[in-house]
Amino acid sequence: MSDCDEQFSDCNEFLEYVYAFLDGELDTDTSGRLQRHLERCSHCLSVADMERHLRELLRSACITQAPRTLRTRIEQTILELSSTGADVSATYHHSQTVIVEE
Ligand SMILES: [Zn+2]
Repeated sequence: MSDCDEQFSDCNEFLEYVYAFLDGELDTDTSGRLQRHLERCSHCLSVADMERHLRELLRSACITQAPRTLRTRIEQTILELSSTGADVSATYHHSQTVIVEE
């Protein structure tokens, strides 16, 4: 149980610093710690990938402003992770079970 709590506390730290992390504004220690977290947390990795992809689109000037739906999805993911990450997963599994039932 404490392992789980520890992981989600790492997630909170990652999500708090994700923008500075992608901007390269963090010190080596913090940046290294977040990088290690990314290597074992698929949730945060997908958040970082979405944000990175969004920035590449903006930088390439193919679009002039951030797509609102993508931005909203990132914010929702962050909210879910930082508040009820474990509960969201449990609810998902429960609904899967219901669907499988004949
Ligand atoms: Zn994480």
